[in-house]
Amino acid sequence: MPEWPTADEPRVVIIGAGLAGCLLATLLGRRGMQVNVYERREDPRAAPPERGRSINLAISARGLAALDHVGLREQALSRALPMHGRMVHDPAGGRSFRPYSADGRRAINSISRSELNLALLDVAVKTPGVNVAFGCRLTHLDLDTGELRFATDEGPRLAQADLVLACDGAFSAARRTVTFRTGFTFGQDYLDHRYKELTIPARDGEFALDPDALHIWPRGESMMIALPNLDRSFTCTLFWTSEQFAALRSPAQIAEHFQAHYPDVAELAPDLVEDYLHNPLGSLATIRAWPWVHGGAAATLALVGDAAHAIVPFFGQGANCAFEDCVEIDRCLAESGNGWPGALAAYERRRKANCDAIAEMALDNFVEMRDRVSSKAFQAKAAAGHWLERRLPGRFVSRYELVSFTTMPYAEIPPRMRRQARLTALAAAGIAGLGAATVVGASRGGRR
Ligand code: FAD
Repeated sequence: MPEWPTADEPRVVIIGAGLAGCLLATLLGRRGMQVNVYERREDPRAAPPERGRSINLAISARGLAALDHVGLREQALSRALPMHGRMVHDPAGGRSFRPYSADGRRAINSISRSELNLALLDVAVKTPGVNVAFGCRLTHLDLDTGELRFATDEGPRLAQADLVLACDGAFSAARRTVTFRTGFTFGQDYLDHRYKELTIPARDGEFALDPDALHIWPRGESMMIALPNLDRSFTCTLFWTSEQFAALRSPAQIAEHFQAHYPDVAELAPDLVEDYLHNPLGSLATIRAWPWVHGGAAATLALVGDAAHAIVPFFGQGANCAFEDCVEIDRCLAESGNGWPGALAAYERRRKANCDAIAEMALDNFVEMRDRVSSKAFQAKAAAGHWLERRLPGRFVSRYELVSFTTMPYAEIPPRMRRQARLTALAAAGIAGLGAATVVGASRGGRR
């Protein structure tokens, strides 16, 4: 357990007004707390969105449930494009649609990251007790004095806090304070794959592809995906190995490569080569940290969202999971009567196993999306799974549905999948046994 400052009403500071930071600030403000939020970027209400991160996000049941807590669920859905399944594009340009749910009715939602952040910020700044300062990049935090230092255009700015909630993302500056502390376990596992975004613009004012699907071009070791945007364009993301990116340099090589491996995209994306040459390359890492709560002589630090557990984006769950963290903190505060020490201890205890579980499932889903999804065996298994779901509703539910369409704790999903796999094997053996008995019975009868 961390040490805890004695102040009755701790001065709470949130670092980062991203997705988690804004949601958490609103939830705390609604509990009557004073919260100062410091954000590195300029005010997004006055500046264009930053380049380099995904333009849109898939938000599903967990994210929507969290948005519901601050009254943003319906607003988010009204600006979202539902995607009811995967559209798989083969190398010859053929397409096949695979629904996400057994009844074909459930959808994940493509939402603009900047719009969602803006909506959350809007709610946060209107919440009494919440103040947001932009253009303040945390450069130093001392848990023994409670002092924070920020770099701003006007020079350094200082602040004091009793509690610092680090919502400053995967490469958290606040987390750096404790990197070398005894007992802090930390790892960042980079994939050899990196990502780059491209655009398929609207064609004659219409979507160039079916907007009701998340499009995938599985290519074994690598893949591309595309999500629809409200302006009827698609944002495509290439997930290729560093070597694959390095191999394509000249406009002719790029055009040739897409013509050979993504022929339909080459036709639909006129600015493909320009996008490829100019858009930045992003990296993909899983961040594992423990503990998430650290005490000093004067202040306590808690890691939240990507700062605690960034995951690879292949289940579309990073933001959904970060939102769940915020709701869990709020729930723990309600249970502890706004007592921070007990709430934070419960928060990290309850969330860690869940975040570890989704981190592993996200890594596994990459192999599914880029490779397994095109195999006949995978398609047969998925179809059999949907068949079982329809016959055993609620008892047999696919991993995708449990992750995306329920709020079941992530950690409960892998053991449930193992139980379901045993059930399926038993059922299959039973069916095979019945079949064999019928054959034997029939042949014995024949001899008699
Ligand atoms: P962030 O969103 O990273 O916010 C951190 C904030 O802190 C930012 O505003 C930043 O400017 C600020 N900040 C950083 N450093 C400082 C500093 N020193 N001082 C002050 N402020 C600072 N998740 C999904 O749920 N669905 C998806 O479909 C999905 N797709 C993704 C696709 C890609 C390519 C990637 C990379 C991620 C994707 N994610 C997705 C994951 C999702 O983006 C993250 O999990 C989510 O943004 C985490 O929210 P956060 O608030 O913890 O961190």
